[in-house]
Amino acid sequence: MARIVVVGAGVGGLATAARLAATGHEVTVFEQAGTVGGKLGRYVHDTPAGAFHFDTGPSLLTLPEVFHDLFEATGAKLDEYLDLTPLDPIVRHVFPGDGPALDSCADPTEFAGRVGAAFGDRAAADWQRLWRRAARVWGASQRDILRRPIDSPLDLAALAWRLGDLAAIAPGRTLRGLGRRHLADPRLRMLLDRYATYTGADPRRAPAALVAVPYAELAFGGWYLRGGLGTLADALLTRCLDLGVVVQTGTAVTRIDAAGGRVHGVRLAGVAAPVPADVVVANVDALTLYRDLLPSPRRLAGLTDRSLAGFVLLLGVAGESGLAHHNVFFPRDYDAEFDAVFGHPGRGVRARPASDPTVFVTVADDPAVRPAGHEAWFVLVNAPRHGTATGAVDWRRPGLADAYADRVLDVLAERGVDVRDRLVFREVRTPADLDAATGAPGGAIYGTAGGLLRPANRGPAAGLWLVGGSGHPGGGLPMVTLSAQIVADAIGPAWE
Ligand SMILES: Cc1cc2nc3c(=O)[nH]c(=O)nc-3n(C[C@H](O)[C@H](O)[C@H](O)COP(=O)(O)OP(=O)(O)OC[C@H]3O[C@@H](n4cnc5c(N)ncnc54)[C@H](O)[C@@H]3O)c2cc1C
Repeated sequence: MARIVVVGAGVGGLATAARLAATGHEVTVFEQAGTVGGKLGRYVHDTPAGAFHFDTGPSLLTLPEVFHDLFEATGAKLDEYLDLTPLDPIVRHVFPGDGPALDSCADPTEFAGRVGAAFGDRAAADWQRLWRRAARVWGASQRDILRRPIDSPLDLAALAWRLGDLAAIAPGRTLRGLGRRHLADPRLRMLLDRYATYTGADPRRAPAALVAVPYAELAFGGWYLRGGLGTLADALLTRCLDLGVVVQTGTAVTRIDAAGGRVHGVRLAGVAAPVPADVVVANVDALTLYRDLLPSPRRLAGLTDRSLAGFVLLLGVAGESGLAHHNVFFPRDYDAEFDAVFGHPGRGVRARPASDPTVFVTVADDPAVRPAGHEAWFVLVNAPRHGTATGAVDWRRPGLADAYADRVLDVLAERGVDVRDRLVFREVRTPADLDAATGAPGGAIYGTAGGLLRPANRGPAAGLWLVGGSGHPGGGLPMVTLSAQIVADAIGPAWE
C-alpha cells in the first residue's frame, strides 16, 4: 500500500483518488478552495421568489461510458448517484442572417436529415462525408491516444507510425482546413470550427484530429445531470469518502519534495511539518506545477500556447424564453472573434474582448434549479485569459467586466433574444475570477491550447503523476476522467 497525496480536488483529482482508494491505497486529497469540484463550480442566488442554482463551469456531459466505468471501478453504479438526462437538441445553432437554426442530436442519420432540411442536400452529403472521416479519426484516437499514457514526443511519433489511420488524422492540417475541404456551406464550417474551442484553441491553428470531438458528442450524445452538472462533484466526493479517502479542503500545497529524483511528500501553506508520501498526483494546471510546486524550467518551456478563457454571465430571468437547453448564437465574422481573443502576440497585437462574440446560452428545463415562472441562464463567451501579457487582458481593470456584460446582453438582443428587461439579477464571472477560485493560471480553461501532445501524465520525478485538463489526454470532463484512469492504472493496485 502506497501513501498517496493528490493535489487538487477537481474532477481529475477526485476520480484518481477514488480509483486508487478502491485498489487499496491510502489516499489524502489536499484542495486549496473551500469546496471540491474545481472548474465544475456552482453558485446559488437567493431571491424572494426562491433560489436560482447555477453551474459556473461545464453544462454538457459527453461520453457517459467514461463515468459509468469510473463508478464501476470504484465498486458502485453511477445511476445510484446521478440522474443522466439525454438532450435533444444537444445544441441549437443559430447562424447570422434570417436562415434556419440547426439542432444537433445523437443520431447521425437524423442529424444529416436535419442538415439537409435546413441547408439542402449538398450540405447533408458534405456532412456525411466529413462524418465518415471523423469516425475513422475517433476510432484511432480513442484506441491509441485517449486511453493510454503518452510520455514524450517520441511516443507520439511512434504512435503515428503505427496508426493505419494516419491519413485520416491528417497531420499538419488544421480543423479549419478540414472544414474547407469537406464543407461548402459556411454555416457547417462555423459549426465545425466551434469544436476547436472545446480544447481552448483557434480552429485556424488546431489540428484536424479534433474532428473527433464533434464525433464523440454527436455519436454518443450530450447529457444533462438533473440538479446540475455540479452533482457530479458531490457524487465523486461521496465515493471518495466512502472508500476512506481523506479530503482536506482549504489546504493549499506549496511545494512537492522531490530531492534525488523521487517524490518524498508535499508542503502545505502555513504548516511547518512536511506531509510524507510515496506517490504525489498533481491535479493542478501543469503551469502551476512546473512553475511553483516543482520548478522545472525545461517542462515549463513547452507550456506557452495557452488556452482561451471564458466570460460568464449568470442571469436570473423572469418568465419563459422558449430557448433550447443549449443555444449557440454565431456572429457574422467568426475570425474577428478569434483574432480578438487570442491577439497576435508575435506581431505585438494585443488580445481584447471580442466586440461581436459567439454567445452560448444554457437554460436547463429543471425545476430544481430555478423558482417557478423563472429561468436560470448560464451565458458563456470566449474570452482572452487574464493577465498583462500581450495575449491576455487585465480583467480586473475597473469597469471592464460590467461594460462587457452590457455588451454581451446587447449582442444577444441584436440576435433576437432581448432579456434585458426581464433580469431579476445578473452575476459576472471573468477569467480573473476563475483563476482566483481554481488556480487555473489566467483563467485559461484547458491549460495549453488544442494540440495532441500535452504535458505527460508521468512527471519528471519518480512517483509524480499529472491528472487533469492541462495534461494528457486533455480538458473537458470525460478527458480528465480518462486521465485519472490512465494514472491509476499506471500506479497499479496496492497488492501488486
Ligand atoms: C466556463 C467553463 C465551461 C466548461 N464547459 C464544459 C462542458 O460543457 N463540458 C465539459 O466536459 N467540460 C467543460 N469545461 C471544462 C471542465 O470543467 C474541465 O476540463 C474540468 O472540470 C477540469 O478538471 P481538472 O481535473 O483538470 O481540475 P480543475 O477543475 O482544474 O481543478 C483543479 C483543482 O486544484 C485545486 N488547486 C490548485 N492549486 C492548488 C494547490 N496549490 N493546492 C491544492 N489545491 C490546488 C483547485 O482549487 C481546483 O479545485 C468547462 C470549463 C469552464 C471553466
